[in-house]
Amino acid sequence: MDKKPKTSPEPADFAHVRDWVFDLDNTLYPHHVDLFSQIDKNMTAYVQQLLQLERDEARALQKSYYHEHGTTLQGLMLHHNIDPDDFLEKAHAIDYSALLPHPELGAAIKALPGRKFIFTNGSVPHAEAAARALGILDNFDDIFDIVAAGYLPKPAGATYDKFASLHRVDTKNAAMFEDLPRNLLVPRALGMKTVLLVPRNLDTVVMERWEKPTDEDDHIDYVTDDLAAFLTGLQAA
Ligand SMILES: [Mg+2]
Repeated sequence: MDKKPKTSPEPADFAHVRDWVFDLDNTLYPHHVDLFSQIDKNMTAYVQQLLQLERDEARALQKSYYHEHGTTLQGLMLHHNIDPDDFLEKAHAIDYSALLPHPELGAAIKALPGRKFIFTNGSVPHAEAAARALGILDNFDDIFDIVAAGYLPKPAGATYDKFASLHRVDTKNAAMFEDLPRNLLVPRALGMKTVLLVPRNLDTVVMERWEKPTDEDDHIDYVTDDLAAFLTGLQAA
Protein backbone atom coordinates (compact mmCIF):
# COMPACT_ATOMS: atom_id res chain seq x y z
CA MET A 1 0.00 0.00 0.00
CA ASP A 2 1.45 3.38 -0.98
CA LYS A 3 -0.49 5.21 1.62
CA LYS A 4 -1.50 3.47 4.84
CA PRO A 5 -5.01 4.29 6.10
CA LYS A 6 -5.00 6.53 9.14
CA THR A 7 -6.33 5.28 12.45
CA SER A 8 -6.91 8.46 14.49
CA PRO A 9 -9.52 10.79 13.05
CA GLU A 10 -8.29 14.16 11.86
CA PRO A 11 -11.23 16.59 12.13
CA ALA A 12 -9.87 18.75 9.26
CA ASP A 13 -10.29 15.79 6.87
CA PHE A 14 -14.02 15.77 7.63
CA ALA A 15 -14.68 19.50 8.00
CA HIS A 16 -16.43 19.66 4.58
CA VAL A 17 -18.65 16.62 5.20
CA ARG A 18 -22.40 17.32 5.25
CA ASP A 19 -23.80 13.82 4.67
CA TRP A 20 -22.72 10.88 6.84
CA VAL A 21 -23.49 7.46 5.43
CA PHE A 22 -23.31 4.31 7.54
CA ASP A 23 -23.53 0.68 6.62
CA LEU A 24 -25.44 -1.28 9.28
CA ASP A 25 -24.16 -4.79 10.01
CA ASN A 26 -20.70 -4.97 11.56
CA THR A 27 -20.46 -1.17 11.20
CA LEU A 28 -23.03 0.47 13.51
CA TYR A 29 -22.52 -2.45 15.85
CA PRO A 30 -19.18 -4.24 16.07
CA HIS A 31 -18.26 -7.60 14.59
CA HIS A 32 -17.78 -9.20 18.03
CA VAL A 33 -21.46 -8.73 18.90
CA ASP A 34 -21.90 -11.55 16.37
CA LEU A 35 -25.43 -10.57 15.33
CA PHE A 36 -24.71 -11.15 11.67
CA SER A 37 -23.85 -14.81 12.35
CA GLN A 38 -27.55 -15.37 13.16
CA ILE A 39 -28.55 -13.88 9.79
CA ASP A 40 -25.84 -15.92 8.12
CA LYS A 41 -27.22 -19.14 9.67
CA ASN A 42 -30.75 -18.25 8.57
CA MET A 43 -29.54 -17.65 5.02
CA THR A 44 -27.73 -21.00 4.96
CA ALA A 45 -30.87 -22.73 6.23
CA TYR A 46 -32.91 -20.98 3.52
CA VAL A 47 -30.55 -22.21 0.77
CA GLN A 48 -30.47 -25.67 2.30
CA GLN A 49 -34.26 -25.94 2.29
CA LEU A 50 -34.78 -24.30 -1.10
CA LEU A 51 -32.34 -26.56 -2.95
CA GLN A 52 -32.50 -29.60 -0.67
CA LEU A 53 -28.75 -29.56 -0.04
CA GLU A 54 -26.55 -30.74 2.79
CA ARG A 55 -25.63 -27.92 5.16
CA ASP A 56 -22.02 -27.70 3.97
CA GLU A 57 -23.03 -27.60 0.31
CA ALA A 58 -25.65 -24.96 1.04
CA ARG A 59 -23.11 -22.87 2.93
CA ALA A 60 -20.53 -23.08 0.12
CA LEU A 61 -23.14 -22.03 -2.45
CA GLN A 62 -24.38 -19.20 -0.22
CA LYS A 63 -20.83 -17.88 0.24
CA SER A 64 -20.16 -18.06 -3.49
CA TYR A 65 -23.31 -15.99 -4.18
CA TYR A 66 -22.31 -13.51 -1.48
CA HIS A 67 -18.86 -13.17 -2.99
CA GLU A 68 -19.94 -13.00 -6.64
CA HIS A 69 -23.09 -10.92 -6.34
CA GLY A 70 -22.64 -8.87 -3.15
CA THR A 71 -25.41 -10.65 -1.26
CA THR A 72 -26.78 -14.17 -0.95
CA LEU A 73 -30.15 -12.69 -1.95
CA GLN A 74 -28.93 -11.37 -5.29
CA GLY A 75 -27.45 -14.79 -6.19
CA LEU A 76 -30.69 -16.55 -5.22
CA MET A 77 -32.77 -14.09 -7.26
CA LEU A 78 -30.54 -14.43 -10.33
CA HIS A 79 -30.09 -18.19 -10.24
CA HIS A 80 -33.28 -19.43 -8.56
CA ASN A 81 -35.84 -16.66 -9.05
CA ILE A 82 -36.85 -16.55 -5.38
CA ASP A 83 -39.26 -14.10 -3.70
CA PRO A 84 -36.96 -11.46 -2.15
CA ASP A 85 -39.44 -10.32 0.48
CA ASP A 86 -39.91 -13.84 1.81
CA PHE A 87 -36.13 -14.28 1.93
CA LEU A 88 -35.54 -10.98 3.75
CA GLU A 89 -38.17 -11.78 6.36
CA LYS A 90 -36.70 -15.23 7.05
CA ALA A 91 -33.07 -14.04 7.01
CA HIS A 92 -33.78 -11.31 9.55
CA ALA A 93 -35.83 -13.43 11.98
CA ILE A 94 -33.19 -13.06 14.70
CA ASP A 95 -32.78 -12.21 18.37
CA TYR A 96 -31.64 -8.58 18.79
CA SER A 97 -30.98 -8.88 22.53
CA ALA A 98 -27.21 -9.00 21.94
CA LEU A 99 -27.43 -5.32 20.94
CA LEU A 100 -27.36 -3.01 23.93
CA PRO A 101 -28.07 0.72 24.04
CA HIS A 102 -24.95 2.69 23.17
CA PRO A 103 -25.54 6.29 24.33
CA GLU A 104 -22.00 7.37 23.50
CA LEU A 105 -22.47 6.27 19.89
CA GLY A 106 -25.86 8.01 19.72
CA ALA A 107 -24.40 11.25 21.07
CA ALA A 108 -21.47 11.09 18.64
CA ILE A 109 -23.77 10.56 15.65
CA LYS A 110 -26.12 13.31 16.80
CA ALA A 111 -23.22 15.76 17.09
CA LEU A 112 -22.15 15.28 13.45
CA PRO A 113 -23.10 18.32 11.35
CA GLY A 114 -25.60 17.54 8.59
CA ARG A 115 -27.65 14.50 7.63
CA LYS A 116 -27.07 10.89 8.65
CA PHE A 117 -28.15 7.84 6.67
CA ILE A 118 -28.11 4.09 7.06
CA PHE A 119 -27.26 2.48 3.70
CA THR A 120 -27.60 -1.30 4.04
CA ASN A 121 -27.81 -4.43 1.92
CA GLY A 122 -30.31 -5.62 4.55
CA SER A 123 -33.94 -4.52 4.99
CA VAL A 124 -35.54 -1.48 6.64
CA PRO A 125 -37.21 -3.59 9.37
CA HIS A 126 -33.84 -5.11 10.22
CA ALA A 127 -32.07 -1.75 10.24
CA GLU A 128 -34.82 -0.23 12.41
CA ALA A 129 -34.74 -3.11 14.89
CA ALA A 130 -30.95 -3.00 15.19
CA ALA A 131 -30.72 0.79 15.45
CA ARG A 132 -33.60 0.85 17.95
CA ALA A 133 -31.84 -1.75 20.13
CA LEU A 134 -28.70 0.41 20.06
CA GLY A 135 -30.81 3.45 20.99
CA ILE A 136 -29.62 5.37 17.91
CA LEU A 137 -32.55 5.08 15.48
CA ASP A 138 -33.75 8.66 16.04
CA ASN A 139 -30.34 10.02 15.05
CA PHE A 140 -30.82 9.07 11.39
CA ASP A 141 -32.60 11.04 8.69
CA ASP A 142 -33.37 8.01 6.53
CA ILE A 143 -32.59 4.37 5.77
CA PHE A 144 -31.74 3.20 2.24
CA ASP A 145 -32.16 -0.57 2.07
CA ILE A 146 -31.94 -3.40 -0.42
CA VAL A 147 -35.57 -2.90 -1.45
CA ALA A 148 -34.92 0.79 -2.25
CA ALA A 149 -31.87 -0.43 -4.19
CA GLY A 150 -34.13 -2.59 -6.38
CA TYR A 151 -32.38 -5.59 -4.75
CA LEU A 152 -29.09 -4.70 -6.45
CA PRO A 153 -26.62 -4.62 -3.53
CA LYS A 154 -23.49 -2.65 -2.81
CA PRO A 155 -20.85 -2.74 -4.28
CA ALA A 156 -22.81 -2.11 -7.55
CA GLY A 157 -22.18 1.46 -8.71
CA ALA A 158 -25.81 1.91 -9.82
CA THR A 159 -26.95 1.42 -6.24
CA TYR A 160 -24.73 4.17 -4.85
CA ASP A 161 -25.99 6.43 -7.67
CA LYS A 162 -29.58 5.60 -6.77
CA PHE A 163 -28.95 6.37 -3.10
CA ALA A 164 -27.16 9.66 -3.86
CA SER A 165 -29.75 10.90 -6.34
CA LEU A 166 -32.74 9.92 -4.16
CA HIS A 167 -31.36 11.88 -1.21
CA ARG A 168 -29.53 14.54 -3.25
CA VAL A 169 -26.26 13.63 -1.59
CA ASP A 170 -23.29 15.60 -2.89
CA THR A 171 -20.77 12.78 -2.65
CA LYS A 172 -17.79 15.14 -2.56
CA ASN A 173 -19.14 16.39 0.74
CA ALA A 174 -19.97 13.01 2.22
CA ALA A 175 -18.33 10.24 4.21
CA MET A 176 -19.01 6.51 4.17
CA PHE A 177 -18.47 4.02 7.00
CA GLU A 178 -18.37 0.32 6.07
CA ASP A 179 -16.90 -2.98 7.20
CA LEU A 180 -16.38 -4.50 3.73
CA PRO A 181 -13.36 -3.04 1.89
CA ARG A 182 -14.89 -3.58 -1.56
CA ASN A 183 -18.00 -1.58 -0.61
CA LEU A 184 -15.80 1.51 -0.24
CA LEU A 185 -14.38 1.42 -3.79
CA VAL A 186 -17.29 3.29 -5.40
CA PRO A 187 -17.64 5.79 -2.53
CA ARG A 188 -13.99 6.73 -2.88
CA ALA A 189 -14.36 7.06 -6.69
CA LEU A 190 -17.31 9.40 -6.03
CA GLY A 191 -15.14 11.58 -3.79
CA MET A 192 -16.40 10.43 -0.40
CA LYS A 193 -14.19 10.08 2.66
CA THR A 194 -13.94 6.36 3.39
CA VAL A 195 -13.73 4.76 6.82
CA LEU A 196 -13.35 0.98 7.21
CA LEU A 197 -14.63 -0.68 10.39
CA VAL A 198 -12.58 -3.72 11.36
CA PRO A 199 -13.10 -6.26 14.16
CA ARG A 200 -11.17 -5.91 17.39
CA ASN A 201 -8.13 -8.19 17.26
CA LEU A 202 -8.39 -8.30 13.48
CA ASP A 203 -5.54 -10.79 13.08
CA THR A 204 -7.25 -13.45 15.16
CA VAL A 205 -10.76 -13.10 13.73
CA VAL A 206 -11.92 -15.68 11.22
CA MET A 207 -13.30 -13.93 8.12
CA GLU A 208 -13.61 -14.63 4.43
CA ARG A 209 -10.56 -13.54 2.48
CA TRP A 210 -12.45 -10.82 0.61
CA GLU A 211 -13.81 -9.38 3.85
CA LYS A 212 -10.37 -8.42 5.13
CA PRO A 213 -8.43 -5.32 4.17
CA THR A 214 -5.30 -5.91 2.12
CA ASP A 215 -2.23 -3.92 1.17
CA GLU A 216 -3.93 -3.04 -2.14
CA ASP A 217 -6.77 -1.15 -0.47
CA ASP A 218 -5.66 2.34 -1.45
CA HIS A 219 -9.27 3.52 -1.47
CA ILE A 220 -9.57 3.46 2.33
CA ASP A 221 -8.78 6.73 4.13
CA TYR A 222 -9.24 5.51 7.71
CA VAL A 223 -9.42 2.22 9.58
CA THR A 224 -10.94 1.88 13.05
CA ASP A 225 -12.28 -0.85 15.35
CA ASP A 226 -14.33 1.57 17.46
CA LEU A 227 -16.94 3.70 15.67
CA ALA A 228 -18.08 5.68 18.73
CA ALA A 229 -14.52 6.60 19.67
CA PHE A 230 -13.74 7.53 16.06
CA LEU A 231 -16.77 9.83 15.72
CA THR A 232 -16.15 11.35 19.14
CA GLY A 233 -12.58 12.04 18.02
CA LEU A 234 -13.93 14.03 15.06
CA GLN A 235 -15.48 16.52 17.45
CA ALA A 236 -12.29 17.04 19.41
CA ALA A 237 -11.10 19.87 17.21
MG1 LIG B 1 -21.66 -4.53 6.90
